[in-house]
Amino acid sequence: MSNDSFALSAGYLKKLVPLMMKYQVPANPKNYALWYTYIANTDEALTKAMNESLQSSGSVSLEQCTELYEAHIADGQNEGIQAAQEGFEALALEISNTMVDTMKDTDVFQSTLEKTFSQLARVDEEAMSTEETIAVVRNALKGSKEIRQSTSFFKNQLADAQKEIDRLKETLAEANEQAFNDALTGILNRRSFDKHLDKLIASPPERGFCLLICDLDHFKSFNDTYGHLMGDQVLKLTAKRLAQFCREGIEAFRYGGEEFALLVPNRPLGGGGRVAETIRASIDKLAIKDKKTGSKLDNITVSIGVAQFEKGESPRNLISRADAQLYEAKNLGRNRVMPIT
Ligand code: GH3
Ligand code: MG
Ligand code: MG
Repeated sequence: MSNDSFALSAGYLKKLVPLMMKYQVPANPKNYALWYTYIANTDEALTKAMNESLQSSGSVSLEQCTELYEAHIADGQNEGIQAAQEGFEALALEISNTMVDTMKDTDVFQSTLEKTFSQLARVDEEAMSTEETIAVVRNALKGSKEIRQSTSFFKNQLADAQKEIDRLKETLAEANEQAFNDALTGILNRRSFDKHLDKLIASPPERGFCLLICDLDHFKSFNDTYGHLMGDQVLKLTAKRLAQFCREGIEAFRYGGEEFALLVPNRPLGGGGRVAETIRASIDKLAIKDKKTGSKLDNITVSIGVAQFEKGESPRNLISRADAQLYEAKNLGRNRVMPIT
């Protein structure tokens, strides 16, 4: 995390404690998360709901806090993200508590200082003895030492917190990666495919889009001949090759075992077919070698079914039309694109 964003988070946290005190919100991780999000103003709907409640009733009730937390903060995210979030909440709690302690210490120091000054003023007025004066100064020194220790403790806490936040950010990034990318090949997974397809269908690009389903040919027998690990290498290599076609809005996904899907926006059936044909030829040309022996392995080929999205159809319908074309391509001898356009 950059210093800037850390400073920003720390800034929010500094506002958080006084605000929660003002509205007498119980200090628990959920409330910290809720009020933190409110202060950070990252959820428009939440900010609006909180502002409305504060304006109309001057506070946010416990029930409302719980409801708002459920609706805006704990919204069915995956476990990794949830865990990172909880970590952050705990962290926020810790920092805030330390901050409250530090503020308390500052108050104590402030009053010690005021007392010291008024006592020192009396030195002149009441002709205090040297011993008495020294005692006053000693008290002041003790107070200043305590506050110094307290702030340096707080600084250490902040440095630890920064490390912790960095770690949580990594966890969050990993959780996101796992949620949307395929573990073997690293390209987008089936879940991402479903999401992207839904999005495309909900608001299709101006010139529509095509779905390509690519299936490696005779991959079972490749595995049988060269072993599953070599098969995995081929899947990685294929994914890497497909990723090279991801420009002009094209997205590639691992759809299932040895099946990949591509979403190709703004192309009619013929254009989608041409992209598919380039992919087929490019995979046919892949020369796969056994690293140990250096010997060249059998060619990997792919069959591809193409379908153009028809307005109003369901994702399932589009997928089954592309699947039917893939089936045709397999039937006609593999290593080809269907339909021929
Ligand atoms: P076809 O040309 O008709 O598609 O034949 P095929 O052998 O490719 O099709 P089939 O559906 O019979 O077999 C798919 C094979 O893909 C079987 C399975 O072992 C292999 N496979 C699926 N996922 C993986 C994987 O993650 N790694 C490896 N190495 N193989 C996989
Ligand atoms: Mg298959
Ligand atoms: Mg296959």
